[in-house]
Amino acid sequence: MPASSKRILFAASECYPLIKTGGLADVVGALPLALAEGGADVRVLLPGFPAVLKGAKAKKKLADIDDLFGSPARLYSAKSDTGLKLFIVDAPELFGVEGNPYQDASGKDRKDNHIRFAAFSWAAAELASGSYTKWQADVVHAHDWQAGLVPAYLRLKGKGGPKTVFTIHNLAFQGVFAKSFLNALRIPRALYTKDGIEYWDKISFLKAGIVYSDAVTTVSPSYAGEIQTEELGMGLGGLLKAQNFKLHGILNGIDTDIWNPQTDPALHTVYGSGKMAGKKANKKALQKRFGLDVDASAPLFCVISRLTEQKGLDLVAAAIPHIVGNGGQLMVLGSGDNGLESAFEVAAKTYQGKVAAVIGYDELLAHLVQAAADAIFIPSRFEPCGLTQLCAMRYGTLPVVSSVGGLADTVIDANEAALQMGTGTGLQFSPVSFEAFCLVIDRFFKLFKNKQQFSKIQRNAMKLDVSWAGPSKTYGTLYENLISED
Ligand code: ADP
Repeated sequence: MPASSKRILFAASECYPLIKTGGLADVVGALPLALAEGGADVRVLLPGFPAVLKGAKAKKKLADIDDLFGSPARLYSAKSDTGLKLFIVDAPELFGVEGNPYQDASGKDRKDNHIRFAAFSWAAAELASGSYTKWQADVVHAHDWQAGLVPAYLRLKGKGGPKTVFTIHNLAFQGVFAKSFLNALRIPRALYTKDGIEYWDKISFLKAGIVYSDAVTTVSPSYAGEIQTEELGMGLGGLLKAQNFKLHGILNGIDTDIWNPQTDPALHTVYGSGKMAGKKANKKALQKRFGLDVDASAPLFCVISRLTEQKGLDLVAAAIPHIVGNGGQLMVLGSGDNGLESAFEVAAKTYQGKVAAVIGYDELLAHLVQAAADAIFIPSRFEPCGLTQLCAMRYGTLPVVSSVGGLADTVIDANEAALQMGTGTGLQFSPVSFEAFCLVIDRFFKLFKNKQQFSKIQRNAMKLDVSWAGPSKTYGTLYENLISED
């Protein structure tokens, strides 16, 4: 089948620039564009959250859906500012709430999440099969637990439908609900088995995605291996090992047009590897704006992250005296666990001029911080891929990362041998402990002092291809192999 005739439907609950809580949105916003450049006809189906309906352009109603799990709904086609072709399921009773797509204002999961995302998955399966429009999919690419039921609903429709790929962006979020919802979710009892969607006497949307899809992918080769173990398999290690014949680890890329220090409108001064003075100007601007001492010689570390246990940021909070004591500065942009938020806020008050913290989510500021900092801390306990280290390298900001998952796959440690060979793009440490973290900080201070070595590592990082060009070809081949299977 020629590449141009491949019709791919992405089903996902997030998509940059319309709705984003994390890396899932970046992937769903960028991979379809790279696939389309390769000739595929890719559409992205999104729930009609208020932000999605507001941000989408050229909306056109395609169909009325009288009863989507008890709610009236409409299907729209639309476009994003970035050129994505979209479908939107507009069901105000299900998706019409403002704010976080999964949680209420107090941070609790919304009570009807099982129905909301089952309905979304149902609509995806119907759309892909041609029930709503003439357009049908050759492959449905479903993302994370919110779209986990798509492969199950398609399987229930019988053979001959579209092929299915299911991507696990983070195994920690599984979409597990009480078995009493089986009927409401239109799942026949026959599927409620250990080999099916049953998970410790409950229903797991993520498990449904794994079991009923034709191929499962995760976002880095190392994470694909790690999730097959008891330690990092989060209760699904055995299943993933048994299913590893269809499991692929494909590294994420980033949108190198959006993350481009030579054109980025969010920066104080644009720059490139040939004119790094601009990076220094961003550092100065950030230091001024957030009350840090304006000092080019002080290594400026940053954090841009969800503040959670996964991300290991308790280590950063604990290491602040060590960082500041050695002349470093820290800029934190993040939100999440209350304990971590207040730890960084307190540190900013205690170490004025040395530590600044912005608690919240700010896309533009994330770009400026990437441009301004000398290094980014990502000491994750596990990391499916991680995108901030890719953005950082493109901006000449050295990632200081734990040796796990996608961090281990994307950052080349600038150890002695690497320095001698002139390779290396950042620093890795292991294990994820306070002692090992302080040691890697010391390694960074040493590297930062050696201007020649430091700028060589910066240049290596900026030269690295972190785009979707390579990974999108791998996905394209996977789709083609599935389509040509029977
Ligand atoms: P995860 O998806 O686990 O949160 P990733 O590194 O894969 O982590 O992706 C995180 C994405 O969210 C990146 O694009 C990063 O820049 C962005 N991000 C995280 N926290 C913030 C924040 N507080 N403000 C702005 N952007 C953020």
